[in-house]
Amino acid sequence: MEGPLRPFLLILTCLPLFSGCTFFRTRPALPDSLLVREQLVIHSDFKLPQKHRLLEELLAIRGDLVSALDIPVSDEPIHLYLFDDAETYQTFITSEFPGLPNRRAFFVEGDTSLSVFAHWGDRVAEDLRHEVSHGYLHAVTPNLPLWLDEGLAECFEVPRGYDGYHVDHAEKLLDLVETASWRPDLLRLESLHDISDMSQKDYAEAWLWVHFLLHTSRERRVLLQHHLSLLRQNGQSPPLSEAIWQTSPTVDDELISYLRAISS
Ligand SMILES: [Zn+2]
Repeated sequence: MEGPLRPFLLILTCLPLFSGCTFFRTRPALPDSLLVREQLVIHSDFKLPQKHRLLEELLAIRGDLVSALDIPVSDEPIHLYLFDDAETYQTFITSEFPGLPNRRAFFVEGDTSLSVFAHWGDRVAEDLRHEVSHGYLHAVTPNLPLWLDEGLAECFEVPRGYDGYHVDHAEKLLDLVETASWRPDLLRLESLHDISDMSQKDYAEAWLWVHFLLHTSRERRVLLQHHLSLLRQNGQSPPLSEAIWQTSPTVDDELISYLRAISS
């Protein structure tokens, strides 16, 4: 395939499952219609308008991330491989990445390339906002903890203008809180290192922590920015939970109060 994937591969996916596909016998070719917009190099097997509003939104997300996280801008290309047909997409993924779960979209970080694979379906906007956010983040920040990587992508998969409020995650967590079925556990989230270990509840909690850090106070936002800055400078950082707990020993309760406040 173009831009050969090196031995190092990090693969992240969006949460929802893809289902109902059938399979071709041979691997489809990579999409070959090319469109370059700033950092995004878009390969599609169908004609995409140069000024498609989804592409404009994807380009704007880079500025949103830079502004929220105080991260630098990269010009490293992010390759988007877009398939018009769900079956063609799934056949390609099964052939190229055997063993991966069936998902509507993937982000793949290789040694020298950042790539997103997706099917242009009903939820492609959400999928691309999520996966392209991974791309922008990985272009400038090494060794992002899995929970933080996914929490940020969940925040920025929400359409612009909603301040990252993810109604599905908020409702799910609120239901669990009201039935005393869930308490925040950032240490447990930090212990997760494999995408297959993350449940829908984990994605929701990761989203909530990131939303809390970004939207409750300048101090908390700076904690997150500092964590990312250390990762960029040193490739490592103490767990973010340490810094968060130093700000308040009752932060778990504050997180639940915040969930109630933004959901009311
Ligand atoms: Zn993801």
